[in-house]
Amino acid sequence: MTEKISVTDIFGMNVFNDTTMVERLPKKVYAALKKTIEKGEDLDPAIADVVANAMKDWAIERGATHFTHWFQPMTGVTAEKHDSFINPTSGGKILMEFSGKELIKGEPDASSFPSGGLRATFEARGYTAWDCTSPAFLREDAAGVTLCIPTAFCSYTGEALDKKTPLLRSMEAISKQATRIVHLFGHNDVTSVTTSVGPEQEYFLIDKAKYLQRDDIIFTGRTLFGAMPPKGQEMDDHYFGSIKERVAAFMRELNIELWKLGVTAKTQHNEVAPAQHELAPIYATANIATDHNQLIMESMRKIANRHGLACLLHEKPFAGVNGSGKHDNWSIVTNTGKNLLEPGKTPHENIQFLLFLAAVLKAVDEHADLLRLSAANPGNDHRLGANEAPPAIISVFLGEQLEDVLTQLIETGAATSCKQGGKLNIGVHTLPELKKDATDRNRTSPFAFTGNKFEFRMVASSMSIAGANTVLNTIVADVLKDMADELEKADNFDLAVHDLIKKTITDHQRIVFNGNGYSDEWVKEAERRGLPNIKSMVDAIPSIITEKAITLFEKHHVYSSAELHSRAEIQFEIYSKAINIEAKTMINMASKKFIPAVIKYTTNLAASINAIKAALPTANTTVQEKLLETTSDLLVKAESALYKLKEVDDIAGTKAEGEEQARYFKDVVVPAMAELREPIDTLELIVDKELWPVPTYGDLLFEV
Ligand code: ADP
Ligand code: MG
Repeated sequence: MTEKISVTDIFGMNVFNDTTMVERLPKKVYAALKKTIEKGEDLDPAIADVVANAMKDWAIERGATHFTHWFQPMTGVTAEKHDSFINPTSGGKILMEFSGKELIKGEPDASSFPSGGLRATFEARGYTAWDCTSPAFLREDAAGVTLCIPTAFCSYTGEALDKKTPLLRSMEAISKQATRIVHLFGHNDVTSVTTSVGPEQEYFLIDKAKYLQRDDIIFTGRTLFGAMPPKGQEMDDHYFGSIKERVAAFMRELNIELWKLGVTAKTQHNEVAPAQHELAPIYATANIATDHNQLIMESMRKIANRHGLACLLHEKPFAGVNGSGKHDNWSIVTNTGKNLLEPGKTPHENIQFLLFLAAVLKAVDEHADLLRLSAANPGNDHRLGANEAPPAIISVFLGEQLEDVLTQLIETGAATSCKQGGKLNIGVHTLPELKKDATDRNRTSPFAFTGNKFEFRMVASSMSIAGANTVLNTIVADVLKDMADELEKADNFDLAVHDLIKKTITDHQRIVFNGNGYSDEWVKEAERRGLPNIKSMVDAIPSIITEKAITLFEKHHVYSSAELHSRAEIQFEIYSKAINIEAKTMINMASKKFIPAVIKYTTNLAASINAIKAALPTANTTVQEKLLETTSDLLVKAESALYKLKEVDDIAGTKAEGEEQARYFKDVVVPAMAELREPIDTLELIVDKELWPVPTYGDLLFEV
């Protein structure tokens, strides 16, 4: 029997949340801190001292010995440097101390984090600054209990060296512009607007002992070799299937850990591929959702270990098997609690909604390249644009109901009706009558309207969601700014808004696509419409340093030109490094594992042919001989592909770092990797299972 837990008791117990602050902070201090959190007002250093002290007492009561500034460098994972609370006093004793200064500012050595040229290594100074809008939390693990303070990370000269700072800036940008718009509609009680985000996280779980036998998964997160098992996902029996015992135990522990951290882990189920699962939290403010998603990924990895499992967050751990992504559900909500993307029952009459909808369409159409890049990492290249969900072409799914409203507006200038959902008749009287949504789901769209939010489905499973939401917030803020500028000047607001909606959706209707995003016809149709189809990360990267992008991000104070250039550099570097590690791992596995195994197999085969011939000279050994011939041919192919891969990987090392090198890796090294993989995967299907040096796809996917 598993031990009973009370979710309501444990939820948020490891978070220095609002309830705890009310309990532990003097009223005046709490009020001042709230002002900073909600209105972005500057924080008084005297207040920081009191907060730090209360935080420390709370943390120490729960066993904490250390604190850390927790930040999100441009690697996409989180980083931290731990300090203990101890401070020596007289008589060889210590005091447990934590000052306001230590709370608000940290100074990790910035030189070991990527800066893309923003900071020369001799200027190693970097600062972490307390982000009081995301609550501090306690982490319990083998290292004990640590007080983690979410922070932003910047250089000595103030440039953002992390993912959080631009995200926070983009939230300010959209808040400012969206507030202007709702004021025009007379909602003057609104003082700020936030974006709500609910990321659905996909992942694989495999057996840890088998994981440890595969250098490719250990070093690169994915299999670089491996033939498809006889049973793939064609049986479709895993999706929403019942959850296996070991996995169930993992999920239980994961949920408990996340609940303690105040992460609203809500749904869990098996995904399409065997060994694949998904976890979705309830949505939260964009930066908290981003922090929580990082915690979810960290916790998954850590807890999997405790259950003899390995959690794979890579976008494509197994070729030929469905990969993993992250669905970034996104909406815009006022501080008075109104979701601006809620169409209501009669969307055609909801002018404010239609304006926001039009703004999103325009933003996505004008900056599809930036969205595409925000979802790009080396792993996602195996999904986007590689015949898998979702396609690399960005389009927006609106569904029948909204598309009909927009068509009416475009064609007649007025929308007078809208399609309604009606009732769903299941045909069994004892079952309740269900209300049917006005619009069916579409699973193939990269950017789908799903009732009262947009779902951006391209995001890579292992990536931080900060980048995607920074882009979304900024591009929509930019359109809202232009709209507000225009509408604020209008003499007749009603007329002006009507014209603006009509014009915007007419100009950008090409981005709307409700059909099957995986079909070849769509690729042709999208090309005809002039929509970009950017297949690889390397091709996507230059989109953040176009003049258009620099103007956009600078206008809204989200990134400076220097920050954008540094990010492009880092992205090229990340790509090159990832492929280089993959190539080297392949070289190693092929030469140390697969080729020796095949040689052993052919030697055994030859010996057996000789033995049979010696025992019975007239015996027919054509089968064995044919097998020996095929195997030997494949071995030759593998050996020459191995040689070629080594050669091109060496050449890659001599290329100028940045775009040139990344392009060489993509255009030359990646194809050479595929050439080596092919004969070895074929050999895997021929060679004796006992001789094959690593666990196969079948072993990895079906024996969890
Ligand atoms: P679906 O099954 O259509 O993907 P769910 O209702 O399961 O939708 O929600 C998926 C994710 O979307 C969850 O994380 C949920 O909290 C989040 N979500 C729901 N409503 C919103 C909203 N208004 N804004 C942002 N995220 C939302
Ligand atoms: Mg979804």
